[in-house]
Amino acid sequence: MNKTTRHSVAIIGGGFTGLTAAYELAKAGCHVTIYEAGNTLGGLAAGFQLADGTPLERAYHFLYTTDNYMIELSQELGVADKLHFYPSSIGAFYRGKLYPFTTAKDLLSFGPLSLLDRFRTGLTGLRLLTLKRWQPLTQITAYQWLCRWNGRRAADLIWKPLLVGKFDKYWDQVTMAWLWTRIHVRQTSKIKGEQSERLGYYEGGFQVVVRQLETELRRLGVTIQTQTQLSAITETNGHPAVVLGGKTKVYDAILAALPSGVLARLASNHPAMTTPYSRQLQDITYLSAVVMVFTTDQPITDRYWHQIHDIDAPFLVFLSLDALVGPANIGGHYVYYIGDYVSADSPLLKLTEDQIKDKWLTGLSKLFPKFSTEWVKESYVFKFANAQHIVGIDYESKIPARRTPLPGVYLSNFCQIFPEDRGTNYAVRDGRVVAAEILHDLA
Ligand SMILES: Cc1cc2nc3c(=O)[nH]c(=O)nc-3n(C[C@H](O)[C@H](O)[C@H](O)COP(=O)(O)OP(=O)(O)OC[C@H]3O[C@@H](n4cnc5c(N)ncnc54)[C@H](O)[C@@H]3O)c2cc1C
Repeated sequence: MNKTTRHSVAIIGGGFTGLTAAYELAKAGCHVTIYEAGNTLGGLAAGFQLADGTPLERAYHFLYTTDNYMIELSQELGVADKLHFYPSSIGAFYRGKLYPFTTAKDLLSFGPLSLLDRFRTGLTGLRLLTLKRWQPLTQITAYQWLCRWNGRRAADLIWKPLLVGKFDKYWDQVTMAWLWTRIHVRQTSKIKGEQSERLGYYEGGFQVVVRQLETELRRLGVTIQTQTQLSAITETNGHPAVVLGGKTKVYDAILAALPSGVLARLASNHPAMTTPYSRQLQDITYLSAVVMVFTTDQPITDRYWHQIHDIDAPFLVFLSLDALVGPANIGGHYVYYIGDYVSADSPLLKLTEDQIKDKWLTGLSKLFPKFSTEWVKESYVFKFANAQHIVGIDYESKIPARRTPLPGVYLSNFCQIFPEDRGTNYAVRDGRVVAAEILHDLA
């Protein structure tokens, strides 16, 4: 691109999708401005620091060995040497008792299931692995499929609590195509000959990638405006434009790298917004996530991931980052995360941080009777709106297009990722794809 004809692109949203798209566009010579509402970059994968400066994620994050888009980006940014893969270990709580749940053998010896149900669960696992395509599974819910193949008892005991934890009251709407893909991604990311999967974590946390991206973006001349809320996306003389503090700024292209509902709101008065597209944006149901991070002066568990198979559990997951990466890699701390996904009207979101801490630490004491709340040194609660979307029957046909009906305005967010689960890896992939589309259209 000739310097005198540098195209200007505004990117709204500084998560991994927006940052990757900005990086690709800036490398191609565009003049890019990022508008981010939060006080920091990284979106759902953004970090924070403990009192002594140790960097952590606000929400627990790891990579699979097959997350090649993130691995490639890390190489390009020169931070791949900070990414290490560690053997993971999973425990499953059922009625207060912890069972090993890392290997196929663990599943086959999972005591709460009868011998027959365990055998059937093993066969269901094999059946899932031999199914090579997710397409035939888009019209059936995960729960229906699991009841059919794994039997109602096992579906209720193993799968239902996990679906409820991840999708709250929408748990029985989720398509089997989504679950099939999750299981396949995990299976294919396993290293041959190893029983447990390996999970990737950056020395210095995911902030290492975000910070390096930010450095590169600034070097390429990208303008980054955090704590900036735009009031509208509009058009001026046929050009896409944003409205900020009452002033209109015109660009050659605008990328909305933010939740679909936010685009619907920002562009509600745009003359080219169509009813079907606006409806599509608003029809995506999002869940919020609540995550508590805390440190202790002694270990609580030697497992990384603890899933809870009791339907009335106070949270979905408890995990110990130090059990995965070792305390030495996280400032010598024992670091724990408790997390849950809830619908936007959940009473949990109305609780204060102290109420959430009380509720969850009390719940944790029941799971680990030796654990005392006095062990807790530092604790933080983060609430995330638009953290996960519901992937129901026939979801593919409901995905809003990247090229919106508004001339020069594009949308890229994790609702367009299907059948894979959302994640930083696909955010990087899609950030690149949308950047290529913008460059193509501008040319
Ligand atoms: C609890 C939890 C655990 C997760 N675990 C993992 C994991 O282990 N591995 C993994 O790879 N992924 C994980 N993810 C998913 C991962 O974080 C996301 O898929 C990814 O970060 C999405 O990036 P994004 O840029 O598409 O969206 P987001 O990160 O949501 O970024 C959107 C950005 O838009 C900004 N924004 C919103 N509205 C406006 C506005 N009006 N104006 C300006 N800016 C605005 C937001 O502040 C945000 O920064 C997890 C997510 C959660 C919630």
